Parts: sequence; structure tokens; C-alpha cells
Amino acid sequence: MLSTMQDVPLTVTRILTHGMTIHGKSQVTTWTGEPEPHRRSFADIGARASQLAHALRDELGVDGDQRVATLMWNNAEHVEAYLAIPSMGAVLHTLNLRLPAEQLVWIVNHADDKVVLANGSLLPLLAPLLPHLPSVEHVVVSGPGDRSLLDGLAPTVHEYEELIAGRPTSYAWPELDERSAAAMCYTSGTTGDPKGVVYSHRSIYLHSMQVNMAESMGLTDKDTTLVVVPQFHVNAWGLPHATFMTGVNMLMPDRFLQPAPLAEMIERERPTHAAAVPTIWQGLLAEVTAKPRDLSSMASVTIGGAACPPSLMEAYDKLGVRLCHAWGMTETSPLGTMSNPPAGLTDEQEWPYRITQGRFPAGVEARLVGPGGEHLPWDGESAGELEVRGAWIAGAYYGGADGEDLRPEDKFSEDGWLKTGDVGVISADGYLTLTDRAKDVIKSGGEWISSVDLENALMAHPDVAEAAVVAVPDEKWGERPLATVVLKEGATADYAALRTFLAQSVAKWQLPERWTIIPAVPKTSVGKFDKKVIRRQYADGELDITQL
Ligand code: AMP
Repeated sequence: MLSTMQDVPLTVTRILTHGMTIHGKSQVTTWTGEPEPHRRSFADIGARASQLAHALRDELGVDGDQRVATLMWNNAEHVEAYLAIPSMGAVLHTLNLRLPAEQLVWIVNHADDKVVLANGSLLPLLAPLLPHLPSVEHVVVSGPGDRSLLDGLAPTVHEYEELIAGRPTSYAWPELDERSAAAMCYTSGTTGDPKGVVYSHRSIYLHSMQVNMAESMGLTDKDTTLVVVPQFHVNAWGLPHATFMTGVNMLMPDRFLQPAPLAEMIERERPTHAAAVPTIWQGLLAEVTAKPRDLSSMASVTIGGAACPPSLMEAYDKLGVRLCHAWGMTETSPLGTMSNPPAGLTDEQEWPYRITQGRFPAGVEARLVGPGGEHLPWDGESAGELEVRGAWIAGAYYGGADGEDLRPEDKFSEDGWLKTGDVGVISADGYLTLTDRAKDVIKSGGEWISSVDLENALMAHPDVAEAAVVAVPDEKWGERPLATVVLKEGATADYAALRTFLAQSVAKWQLPERWTIIPAVPKTSVGKFDKKVIRRQYADGELDITQL
């Protein structure tokens, strides 16, 4: 028998209309680099989202599930696009502005984007691509930047503010199928072509509710979140949608992502929460160590996208800022785990939980799979590849306009679970500890060495700013770890001392023999350590190696 309950589609439209009415006074504040930031209420954002939808439909002819791309920083106009485009039935496609040009071209063509909304400051990036983007008919520009860069190029160019001005501030939003596409985001893909994850209205709605739960970020309309994680990186971890559900104010850094303006934003605007990858927090720590700032308004910070070194957590604890570790992927919307410890523990007892990647919420099922395909126990010791499934987890990749969805064997199990490519253990009470990416594990003489363990231990050394450890070929052992170290300003290298320090926390046979100092760890387009670059530099003989 079926239930007797109403079947109301879970859509972004409902998030939009709720946020603009019930939380109309909440604000999106965008940093401008001027003495005063720009402030816009949720009510105004909602009205302007309607105007944008009218402009896209009536003026630019966007229809059905056509794709509208954004090449934008985190700002109020980008939030308007987030809400308007899915609500009118079209598909929001956020473009990662840090990808190499040829990948961006591939992605726009694959998604068949009809319109690109771009920030003026990003036109130097967009303009040279346009001749290679035949599907793009319109470019809509907002914010400062030189428009003449688009002169003579094929698509019609519009000014965002002029385009939406005078249009109706309400829209007869269509009732959409909750399973239809709302937004898409391509993974940067270390091998092969980028892969498109297509989020549904339903997955965004359910994911937003999870983000808002107390066991996750637990924010309310009393909070302000500093959204450093880019809107092109997994929908800024779902924050623009989640905040419209609960009225959380958003502080948007726009293009001012360097440590100094971030520190100033925090001190002046006093956000209570923030979200970003570890490299941002490393940079900010160095900044406030050199020039002290008051960060104490940020009661909690969500840190994820890459492993958070425990030493970084300790350093922020001392500043009165609690980092909360989260794990996720583009394919998981991204919230997969968060490391809020269970109730009733002292600070000391909480620590071992805080340094894990966290526990799974009710909406995410997890299992660990061993090398032979066997399912491993949750005993905190058995290490295997993490597989997940749930209502906001991808079940396939977008196959392109004429293609079928893609379900590559290395990404999806036969029974439809997502193979995350992450290796780790799970404790009996469901806390995940990742030891590596499957492809980053160092296989030495038949034993596995965790590159993350070595990095975390090294980054706890007072002279070390950053450290990345990669596997390099070794005649005797198959693979051995290579330690690449970035020293703090003024520190000098003493490899033997670093090795002795490392020996305090890892087994002797895991200690690297090969060491090198580098000026900075190469980073991916979303600020994670790019280990394939280090492996290539080593293979090409570009690194100055000291052998101990
Ligand atoms: P992306 O889809 O670009 O966000 O990358 C997802 C990948 O980032 C995951 O599969 C993990 O390898 C890594 N990752 C994300 N969060 C964490 C975390 N908290 N600790 C370690 N690795 C992480």
C-alpha cells in the first residue's frame, strides 16, 4: 500500500521562495576591495533571481533544460544564478576558473552551454576561449573588468545589470520533476577526460537539509558563513542552497582570496563559520602569525577537500577557532562525513574523533572493500577502498548531449555504489579515517605506507610549512616514499633532524630515504596537493634529491 502523504517535489525553487520570504532580511555580503563591502538581502536576491530568469527566457531564449554556465567568483550575482537557473528548469553549469584552457573548452562543449554568465575580471580568461565554444550564443558580464576584450567575438554580449533591469520581480516558476537536472559540475579528472556530475533538485534539497543538521554544520539565521570554498567547487559545498533554507548570512570573498584580505574580512565582518580547503587555512595561519588579527568570531570552520593535518587543528584551537574535518567529493554533493565527536566526552577524549574524517550521516551508506572485492569489518584496523551510496551520491556521469550516462567500472560497483578511490578504515561507531587516495598509497615491499600519515607528522614540525609525500620507484622495495618539504620563512633544512622527528610518530621502515626542499607544493585547480606533478618532476629529474 502507498502512503497517504502529499508528494511535493523537492526543488531548488522551494528553497528560493522559502529563503526570500521567511528569511528575506538575511544578507549576502560581497567583498569589493573598497572600504565598504556590498550587501544584498535574501529578499532582493530572490527578486533579482526572478528578473534574471525573465531575462534568460525572454531575451536570450533559454528554454527547457538548456545549460547556462557561470564563470564567476563567490558573490551575490552568482547566488542569483544558483537560484534562478535551476528554478526556471534550466541547468546551472559552474565552470572551474582555474582549469587549463583546453579542459574548459572541452567541458563547455561537452555540456553544450548556451549562455555564459561571467565576472568582468575573468574576461581575460574567457575571451580567448570563445572562438572554440560554438554552442555559446550569449555572454552576460557582471562586475568590474574590461569589456572591450570581447569586441569582435561571436556571441552577443550583455551587461548583467542592464539585462535584468526593469523586468518583473516575480516569476511563475514551473513545477519541476524533483529528479530532473538542476546543476552540473565536472571533476577535474587526473586521468582521461573530465567527468560531469549532474545534481538533481531532489539531491540538492536533501543535501541542503543535511548540511543544516546540527550534526553537520548546524547553522541558523544567527550565523554568518564565510564561503571561501569556490562556488565552482561542488556548489561551494552546498552552502548557497543550505543557507537559503535557514537564513544563514553569507560573506562572499569574490576575487579577494589571498590571506591578507581574508584576515581583514574576518576581523571586520565577524563571520561565525567558514568553509575552505586546508591550504587556505595554512595561508591564513601564516598571515595572522606574522600580523595578529582577531579571528575568534569564527566558532567553527568546516575544513575538507583534502586531509587536515592535526597540527593545523591545534594551531587554530589556540586562536579560539575550531576546525571541523569533513570528507566529500564532487560525486557526493559533497557532504559525506563530518567529524563532530559523539556526546559526553572531555576535550582530550574528543581529540581522536576530531582528527578523523568524521562519521556518516543517515543519508550516506558506506562500506569498505578489500583488494579481492571482499567487504571489510568496521574495526578501525581493516583498510580498504571506501564505497558509498545515498540520495545525494552520483550513480553515473553525464554522457553528453547524444550519449548515454557513463558508469565506468573503476568508479561504480556492479550494484551501483560509488567507488570513491579513497582508502581508509572505519571504526565500530562509524568514524572514517582516510589513509590515502588509492593511487597515492606507497606500496613498499608488499606493505602499504600512508603518504598522509607521513605528511601530517612532518607538518607538525615547527620548521615545516607544508609537506607532500609521494611514491617513487625503488629497485629493492618496488616503491618508497619521497618527502618534499616546504620550509617556513627563515628556517634551514636539516634532513637528518626531520627524519629523527618523523621517527617519533611512524614506524622505522616507513621513514623516507629521499628528501627534497621545494619552494611550494604544486596545487590542483581547487587548491589540493597535486602529487602527479611531483611524481612527474621526480621522473624528469627536476628535483634536487638528498639521499639519507
Ligand atoms: P573533489 O571531487 O575534487 O572534491 O575531490 C574529492 C577527493 O578529495 C576525495 O575523493 C578525497 O580523496 C579528497 N578529500 C576530500 N575531503 C578529504 C578529507 N577530509 N581528507 C582527505 N581527503 C579528502
